Amino acid sequence: MRTKQFKSESKKLMDMMINSIYTHKEIFLRELISNASDALDKLYFRSLTDNSVGIAPDDFEIRIEIDKDNRILRIIDNGCGMTEEELDKNLGTIAKSGSLAFKQENEKKENVDIIGQFGVGFYSAFMVSDRVTVESRAFGSDEAFRWESSGADGYTVEPCEKETVGTTVTLHIKDKTDDENYDEYLDQYRISALVKKYSDYIRHPIKMEFTTREPVEKKEGEESKETEYRDVTELRTLNSMIPIWKKAKSEIKPEEYNSFYKDKFYDYEDPARVIHSKTEGQATYSALMFIPKHAPFDYYTKDFEKGLQLYSKGVLIMDKCADLLPDYFSFVKGLVDSEDLSLNISRETLQHDGQLKLIAKTVEKKIKSELEKMLKDEREAYEEFFKTFGIQLKFGVYNDYGMHKDTLKDLLLFRSSNEKKYVTLKEYVERMKEGQDIIYYACGETDEKIEMLPQTDAVKDKGYEILYLTENVDEFALKMMGEYDGKKFMNICDDNLNLDSEEEKKALEEENTAAKDMFEAMKESIGDKINAVRFTNKLKNHPVCLTSEGGISLEMEKVLNSMPGAADNKVKAQLVLEINASHPIAEKLKELYASDKELLGKYARLLYGEACLIGGRSVPDPAEHSALVCELMVK
Ligand code: ADP
Repeated sequence: MRTKQFKSESKKLMDMMINSIYTHKEIFLRELISNASDALDKLYFRSLTDNSVGIAPDDFEIRIEIDKDNRILRIIDNGCGMTEEELDKNLGTIAKSGSLAFKQENEKKENVDIIGQFGVGFYSAFMVSDRVTVESRAFGSDEAFRWESSGADGYTVEPCEKETVGTTVTLHIKDKTDDENYDEYLDQYRISALVKKYSDYIRHPIKMEFTTREPVEKKEGEESKETEYRDVTELRTLNSMIPIWKKAKSEIKPEEYNSFYKDKFYDYEDPARVIHSKTEGQATYSALMFIPKHAPFDYYTKDFEKGLQLYSKGVLIMDKCADLLPDYFSFVKGLVDSEDLSLNISRETLQHDGQLKLIAKTVEKKIKSELEKMLKDEREAYEEFFKTFGIQLKFGVYNDYGMHKDTLKDLLLFRSSNEKKYVTLKEYVERMKEGQDIIYYACGETDEKIEMLPQTDAVKDKGYEILYLTENVDEFALKMMGEYDGKKFMNICDDNLNLDSEEEKKALEEENTAAKDMFEAMKESIGDKINAVRFTNKLKNHPVCLTSEGGISLEMEKVLNSMPGAADNKVKAQLVLEINASHPIAEKLKELYASDKELLGKYARLLYGEACLIGGRSVPDPAEHSALVCELMVK
């Protein structure tokens, strides 16, 4: 018999398992039971529509056997079983692609719990066993095969005898060591407690022979004799079989929700929020949903699949039903169990199913109202949530032509110039200064860079709060909203930003008209990088700033041009060089316009460079800029 090698990823994982110092080795049992339960589901599901299965619905079960003397623990199911190829493929290869990559990436971060995160499935058996044997007969086949492995060196697959369809996993439990008492996995009480702890909701019975000692009743005349005992063995069902979502909320402890979540959705952290609801009426269903504390490692990759598990009367019919979750709530994990869906509904027909659409709609409402509640009652937790998933909500506002902006607008948070704390749009509007009718925002890579923008001071000086936008999607989302509560949004770098009184405005206009020709000359010297030059009152101490006219800001220009396909069709922000009308530089420029037009041109180019720098950008022609500065220095 040839020993086969594990695929290299699996071998590494196997090594990890064997040498694991993981403190929750007990989860191996949950993993094996969960596999058995999946295998039962597959055949059970089939038995509902196919008489040839030949197993009555009530006869599907998981058996656990303990053989203390031989240090053996068995998990037996009469589920779908595996063929020779399946044994080879499923147990010779790591099932969850990416989990090892993740593990290696996170090796240095000590607290990342890869075993908890992925469950790592079948291989976890090697944390407690030095040999594992899997005997399996697939449904529809009259041959059975035995897979066996003692660890990372490889495995064998050979034919074997097996009367019935299903799988028997035999664990040869490791010897007790100083650090680890493996004997506990041969103890019926311990195993029974582990089943209760991790697998109580499994909907198939998990049975085990339980042996207890009972006193033997004394016969007449024997009263004086010492009590005798005998062993009594009975077959017990260890789990309650009631899915947690079918239980009443009041009966469920938070730990139960948490461990169900971690087990089922491969997370190592408790969820941030649990949403458990039963809905009756047009659509009758139970939903159990979770808002995770952190994004799954593949959340921002194209591999990520959103969706809720879909059950019909307790039977899983789809693992990730994408239609149940809008994209902007794609971070939600959980399940829906409906009374109204047919069991053999296909993916295609499901999409058009009216019931499912109804359910999806109420599910969305539930999630939204839960988030609102969290925002209201648990601000800190909500802010943490928003740091992790807020970007998803902002994309939700922007996508689909703003169709969902009203659903989402009150869930958004922005940091702002007020103590740099998070603020909702509602809070912003409520504390707007009298006479303020615009919601101001500024864009930049970081809060610090935004604070350094020349316009920031002036707006803050007026007593107006500024929203700080640091993510690419932010400004697009606000543009899509257009307004909030009747108040328009404005980028403080927009050339329309106007903080002046009517008289001030008029005086400035006159000054600008008078200097028209000078501005023309300056613009000519700078070139087509800018559209116009003018005086402004919106700067406090800074001499110059760049603003944009026409609605496309510099940040938007950057984002739009970095999108795929943008190369041939670049957008351009229309920039204006604004000069502080009350800065001494304004007078100097006027002087130069009268006396030395060539020097004025150089000043114009220099000021443009300064404006770039103050705005936190690079100077387009650093060599020229530096040469001009030096020229002035030696004068
Ligand atoms: P996962 O269960 O996450 O897919 P595992 O490593 O636990 O990963 O199992 C790998 C695969 O082996 C399963 O997907 C399943 O196809 C198969 N398998 C494991 N245990 C059983 C079983 N008891 N009966 C039938 N198939 C099984």
